Amino acid sequence: MIIVMKRYATQDDIQNVIDKIREMGYDYQISYGGENTLIFVIGSEKELGKEKFIFLKNVDNVIQVAKPYKLASREFKSDNTIIDVNGIKIGGEEILIIAGPCSIESEEQLMLSAEIVKNSGIKFLRGGAFKPRTSPYSFQGLGESGLRLLAKAREKTGLNIVTEVIDTSEVNLVAEYADILQVGARNMQNTKLLQMLGKINKPVLLKRSFSATLNEFLLSAEYILSSGNENVILCERGIRTFVEYTRNTLDLNIVPAIKQISHLPIIVDPSHGTGKSDYVIPMSRAAIAAGADGLLVEIHPNPANASSDGEQSLTPESLIRLMSEVKGIASSVGRKIL
Ligand code: PEP
Ligand code: MN
Repeated sequence: MIIVMKRYATQDDIQNVIDKIREMGYDYQISYGGENTLIFVIGSEKELGKEKFIFLKNVDNVIQVAKPYKLASREFKSDNTIIDVNGIKIGGEEILIIAGPCSIESEEQLMLSAEIVKNSGIKFLRGGAFKPRTSPYSFQGLGESGLRLLAKAREKTGLNIVTEVIDTSEVNLVAEYADILQVGARNMQNTKLLQMLGKINKPVLLKRSFSATLNEFLLSAEYILSSGNENVILCERGIRTFVEYTRNTLDLNIVPAIKQISHLPIIVDPSHGTGKSDYVIPMSRAAIAAGADGLLVEIHPNPANASSDGEQSLTPESLIRLMSEVKGIASSVGRKIL
């Protein structure tokens, strides 16, 4: 922790801070060099507490240096977390691809989508039964009957299922059907939901909120980890910026940043990240090149008829093209497509 004194702080003010540090049983180092005197306190920041110093006379700022998350950090676990889903390893050499429609609309639409996904060599099918829509007037999803259709698709194709949970009351229900439970951007800071997902024995795909900083994103993962579930997959899905030519700005910077400071796998969703199907393949290539552990992409048998997110959904043909293009990128960065 660094305590920054105001420029006009007196020797008595500085001594007052030092007395407080000593009283608490900590050591310190002092720098008079620049315009402001800096006091470096050596000890656990959690126990020290910023508020114990910020109110002392002529203290300008108290800077906490330690990372606020623990279980999600590489200091806690240096090796990458590898998550096993029915024998498939996520976060290792192989790249995870999850594809499917934004929403489950009908049996016919889901079964057709599942066939498209399977025929493209993909092992994970996505589809929303509970949809967290921005407008209450938009299609909200088929609910439990959508989950039953997912079970049918799994039975027919052997695909693993990824689907979203939006409420604590539905966690156990969704966990019965899903192989991976998705938390959407709008729920990234729903702490009760995160804690409850910490108690289940299925992996959680945690999407970054529109405006979350890297620390906030990892602290949300920390809620799940600290509640007992070690299997968290992070997902960058674009953040809100001033640009208007895409739905969101896909922040690929976060991929190497997360890789550096966390052991958790991170995948990228170029569909919500761009909002435009034409940009999904180039940004998928970029995501894999940047070191992402996988992709989450929306597809639709007929995007023009989709109940949600048709504009960003790939056609069956473009999904096949995506797979062949990312294969080359994956091998050039020492990875394989799952
Ligand atoms: C989705 O994956 O369909 C979705 C709702 O995504 P997000 O939460 O990232 O908006
Ligand atoms: Mn969507």
